[in-house]
Amino acid sequence: MQFPPHASSFQIALPGWVAAELADVPDALPERQHRVALVNRLAARNWREGNGGPFAALVAEAETGRIVAVGVNVVLSTGITSGHAEVTALGLAQARLGRWNLGAEGMPEHELVVNWRPCVQCYGAAMWSGITTLALAGSGDEVEELTTFDEGPMPENWAGEFERRGIRVLDGLAKEDALAVFREYRAALDAGKITVYNAR
Ligand SMILES: [Zn+2]
Repeated sequence: MQFPPHASSFQIALPGWVAAELADVPDALPERQHRVALVNRLAARNWREGNGGPFAALVAEAETGRIVAVGVNVVLSTGITSGHAEVTALGLAQARLGRWNLGAEGMPEHELVVNWRPCVQCYGAAMWSGITTLALAGSGDEVEELTTFDEGPMPENWAGEFERRGIRVLDGLAKEDALAVFREYRAALDAGKITVYNAR
């Protein structure tokens, strides 16, 4: 059998509506609250568009707020289970900058902004990306209770593990707004309108 037998690459790509959603967003959002508000807004639209779960993320320069990349959960639209918002945003940021290390010497510091605490997969992805700040709308068990997504076996001291590696964690930046998105998602779920894609 010749290699590759079937596929030699796969793609995690943003859906087309994201560009339209960003049309009125400036290149930089100096106020962190505005960055968090943007990920909540993208998360709210993402599940309605059928791309995946109610999750969004962005990578920005921590100081200036220049947006380097955004990501949404694209598991349903791509069929790739690793296509979470954080992985998408980090990968697009690294592709744009041509650097695997977003914290490399001579670069501005970068932060990952997410509408909820990362799952066990994205915990690792965020940790290895070179970001120096993780900014979260919220964290806690509510995401699993409301959305029914399994976030995996996160260590109890997950935030401390980031801090130990020089990654500052800012939590609870817009928790109620994030929960409002999850509640709307849950209502659609209870009405049988959407798919939750936990593989097991
Ligand atoms: Zn994830």
